[in-house]
Amino acid sequence: MAVIAGNWKMHHGPNEALDFLSDFDVDAVPSSHELIVFPSNLSLHALATAEQRDSRVQVGVQNVYWEDSGAFTGEISASMAKDAGAAFALIGHSERRHVFGETDLQTQWKVDIVVSSGLVPVLCVGETIEERKAGLVEEVILRQLEVALDSLCSAPRFLVAYEPVWAIGTGETATPEDATFAHGTLRRRLERALSAPHASRVPILYGGSVKPGNAAELMEARDVDGLLVGGASLDATSFSQIAAAAG
Ligand code: PEP
Repeated sequence: MAVIAGNWKMHHGPNEALDFLSDFDVDAVPSSHELIVFPSNLSLHALATAEQRDSRVQVGVQNVYWEDSGAFTGEISASMAKDAGAAFALIGHSERRHVFGETDLQTQWKVDIVVSSGLVPVLCVGETIEERKAGLVEEVILRQLEVALDSLCSAPRFLVAYEPVWAIGTGETATPEDATFAHGTLRRRLERALSAPHASRVPILYGGSVKPGNAAELMEARDVDGLLVGGASLDATSFSQIAAAAG
């Protein structure tokens, strides 16, 4: 079983989101794959309640605030996202960390509220190109995981996504060897926190310029349990081709 997730970022308003669903050929995707789409907040409810939504296409929120309610103009809470139909929450996406300056501590608070609200967290970790060149891949991704590990381990279910910052939206992809190294590092840390069988069931997704042409090769890498797809998930045909190629 593989988890194939699409992060739509700031694309696809409610009508375009519904058009995507009409065009998306869920039957082309092996039935063993789990499908998740992360639409914009404005499209989330429309997508989650759409009549044309096959129940296999689950919906998640791209980001939440760390408080449950209050005077936080422009923010949304995990419980609101759940009420609107989200089942998953992306936390710590590279753009949250590097465009909006989200810190590890804020990421931790967000994982806490996501878990207590009953959403399934998908924690994103990944190094910048400078960190990679300095040989810090292991240190960075473990730090980003460890800050949220207690909360994650208290959740009935969670996912981790390894998304090297330098591969997001750049057309550059990690090699299968790079992915194996990073995913193996994360898996071994999860094994220390959980029992080995439990850790082996935590899906670790790879993200960063995944396309129909490279999905199969990345999925074959050891410890890669699924894909988190940005740009190529916006088009229904390319997203279903990626999901079909994923095994
Ligand atoms: C992402 O936004 O999580 C992502 C991996 O983007 P892209 O596939 O466009 O690199």
